[in-house]
Amino acid sequence: AVATKAKRILPGSTIGMVGGGQLGRMFSVAATRMGYDVVVFCASNDEPAAQVSTRTVVGRLDDSQAVIEFARQCDVISLEFENIPAETMRLCGEHAPTYPSHHVLATAQDRLIEKQTFADAGLAVTPFARVTGRDCVQSFAAEHGWPVIVKTARSGYDGKGQHRLDDESDIDSVPWQETDHWIAEKCIEFQAEASIIVARSAHGEVRCFPPFENHHVNHILDTTVCPSFLSPELIENAVNLATKAAEVLDLVGVLCVELFVTADGTMLINEVAPRPHNSGHLTIEACHTSQFEQHVRAVCGMPLGDPSLRVAAAAMANLLGDLWPNDGPPAWDQLQRAQPTVALHLYGKRDPKVGRKMGHLTATADSVEAAREAVLSARRTQV
Ligand code: ADP
Ligand code: MG
Repeated sequence: AVATKAKRILPGSTIGMVGGGQLGRMFSVAATRMGYDVVVFCASNDEPAAQVSTRTVVGRLDDSQAVIEFARQCDVISLEFENIPAETMRLCGEHAPTYPSHHVLATAQDRLIEKQTFADAGLAVTPFARVTGRDCVQSFAAEHGWPVIVKTARSGYDGKGQHRLDDESDIDSVPWQETDHWIAEKCIEFQAEASIIVARSAHGEVRCFPPFENHHVNHILDTTVCPSFLSPELIENAVNLATKAAEVLDLVGVLCVELFVTADGTMLINEVAPRPHNSGHLTIEACHTSQFEQHVRAVCGMPLGDPSLRVAAAAMANLLGDLWPNDGPPAWDQLQRAQPTVALHLYGKRDPKVGRKMGHLTATADSVEAAREAVLSARRTQV
């Protein structure tokens, strides 16, 4: 359980960040603004987080000498994505408090263990089963019906490793030989997707951000708005669910709980991420405390900030590599002229690829509709 007297790690101390992507980058920007030093452990000096951090230790995640060299510099250590070997975080934990712990990581990086953990705790999850091939998928479909979504249980993100099977003739389209660790899920006909980010500090303090409403395209997050369409009653359900999920995991840090909301208002957990999340990016402009600052406060054992909205409404639109023309960067000046109130975030990735998250846009406004329209019309200046 969370130690009630965990040490407060004050500004001026050094936070270690395992992973150099955009989540580590925005974490570093928040932490350095608060007066912390940030040391990033990643594969090159030019990764998005390395570009904005105090120091970088370059190394492979399985290089224990490099991991120890990094961990020795840190007063506390966190991470920015789940697909880090749990062993790396266990090793970090020998040198400094490490949040989320390698136990949380081991759960969150395996869809089967994660869903089973929440199901065992009485939280509603998408119906699922472990599958290895044709026979298991057929018996799963016999119980839950078609379509079925088959995913790799480990190391998928942004829809990678997912296969939607409309009927049994699609079973052979799954590359079964690639791994023996697959999960089948009932395809949920949701009314909408939502997410809720909860923070839990090393002192056991818990606070939730207002839920976000998410729209995915090709299984990748495209836009988020807040406030969501959820009624006060459903917001309370989401808050209870996220709080329980954080407690079941004994999590310290922030946790994003992705939800499917069905037509009758039932909420099912799709997946969780024990770190800041793409759907929470709008908190930078829209909330008193951003998800990144809240994560810093939580892992440092500092009092949590106020996560509530400080504007009426906000919207976020992702900028994928698909927007980059072949012959140079997009016309950002055109976007900024057309939409001077929209905030442009770029992650410093040198290599745009189709489906790769390169940046995002955020707008705040008097209504969700106005905020959504602002980010969408800003993005349209690039297509
Ligand atoms: P990732 O780790 O890639 O984010 P997710 O499981 O969250 O994986 O899937 C990405 C998106 O694909 C979801 O947000 C949702 O839009 C769609 N999706 C995934 N699983 C299901 C499901 N069982 N039923 C309906 N849609 C799904
Ligand atoms: Mg997801």
